[in-house]
Amino acid sequence: MSAQNVETTEGPAVIALGANLGDRRATLAAAVRAIADLPGVELTAVSSFIETPALKPHGVDTDAPAYLNGVATVLSALPPHALLDALNAIEHANGRVRDEHWGDRTLDLDLITFAELQQSDERLTLPHPRAAERDFVLRPWLEIQPDAVLPGRGRVDALLSALTGETPTEGAETGEGR
Ligand code: ADP
Ligand code: MG
Repeated sequence: MSAQNVETTEGPAVIALGANLGDRRATLAAAVRAIADLPGVELTAVSSFIETPALKPHGVDTDAPAYLNGVATVLSALPPHALLDALNAIEHANGRVRDEHWGDRTLDLDLITFAELQQSDERLTLPHPRAAERDFVLRPWLEIQPDAVLPGRGRVDALLSALTGETPTEGAETGEGR
């Protein structure tokens, strides 16, 4: 492969996956396969998928179909914007229609982190600005990367316990509904 000095940043990235329409599990599995098939992207881990109530701008919406959420980690030779483009193309290939902000969707792929980058433009903010408040991102991320750190915000286990009131050593297996 010839060296191309276009944008040299490459590195480990964390991708959050969500679906609340259609066959959610099949869509997420197809998305994981599509990510693994991206040229220059190596899939390094995939979390289990967890069910979470839909979150709308005004809060939790128990009338909307629930989400299935998970997290994947990759090693990306694609720079951040190219990786986001590729993720958007996978959303489209899986029937994503972009209309209502935070509306129901067959597939949502968010770039949570890219290496240690902290940057923002009109298309891409890194780390993802709402990741620290989303237990459905932090929990599956922690499952596959127990020492994970959200750049600028600290350890993911501490962020998750701050969010849920759990201590990192206490299990999530309380049997309580959510
Ligand atoms: P949301 O995921 O917040 O429900 P969308 O998936 O419709 O909403 O994305 C809204 C916009 O967020 C997109 O136009 C995208 O360019 C932008 N965006 C900014 N930062 C990120 C990021 N880290 N990951 C994914 N999208 C991002
Ligand atoms: Mg999104």
